[in-house]
Amino acid sequence: MIKIENLKKIYKNGSVSVEALKGVNMEVNQGEFVSIMGPSGSGKSTLMNILGCLDKPSQGRYELDGEKIEELNDSQLAGIRNKKIGFVFQSFNLLPRITALKNVELPMMYAGVPSKERRKRAIEALERVGLGDRLEHKSSELSGGQRQRVAIARALVNQPAVILADEPTGNLDTKSGDEIMAIFQRLNEEGVTIVMVTHEPEIAQHTKRVVTFRDGEIIEDKFVENQIILH
Ligand code: ADP
Ligand code: ADP
Repeated sequence: MIKIENLKKIYKNGSVSVEALKGVNMEVNQGEFVSIMGPSGSGKSTLMNILGCLDKPSQGRYELDGEKIEELNDSQLAGIRNKKIGFVFQSFNLLPRITALKNVELPMMYAGVPSKERRKRAIEALERVGLGDRLEHKSSELSGGQRQRVAIARALVNQPAVILADEPTGNLDTKSGDEIMAIFQRLNEEGVTIVMVTHEPEIAQHTKRVVTFRDGEIIEDKFVENQIILH
């Protein structure tokens, strides 16, 4: 599903340059559930930005669901983002004044899905995350955990090849965070591929594999031995 080879990213600001990724190799197969860990500054955000087609590598190859990403131009990248990637953020990034249903419909509007179909698929996605009874609530009327579930429904709705989640439980209390992880586990059991950044080891124990970065390199990559199932 994801294959990166010798991936390098160098940020240049004037005469100063920082090598944020130093030749990273990694594969993620369909159906995996991977945590990315590592201290601040180790390259996690840089990697996620590249995996999410928000930024390009300075060198190396990135293949996502059969597409050679490093060969694409910006408008092709935008298309890949919308079609193949579902994003979940720490701060939810919903529009506060529109309903849960409309928030989930948004990515389908960009994809040109007709309105009836949009509504049907948005309802299905919200039901999948247990929010079938909150369709007409504005996101400002929902709790943090519920907002994150709306964001997950929005991420799912174009049937992406992978869900990329950046500290998805970072703004939630333990109970809501565990509910989010339970939803991710259930989606993963249904075949959804998930790559998630977290700095909490307890959260990583709910995934299947932990890849640890330090100074722009992978220093450890191992399967979780006793994945804690939450549901
Ligand atoms: P993490 O997400 O693990 O905290 P980052 O990927 O944000 O790590 O950063 C990796 C390194 O790259 C750090 O040294 C950081 O300061 C640097 N960096 C990240 N983004 C930029 C940027 N836009 N310009 C310059 N340096 C950057
Ligand atoms: P995170 O909290 O996910 O680790 P960071 O705090 O490392 O994120 O980075 C937040 C944003 O700032 C990112 O978009 C990153 O690219 C940018 N950034 C990080 N370090 C630098 C830097 N030294 N110069 C410019 N931008 C940076």
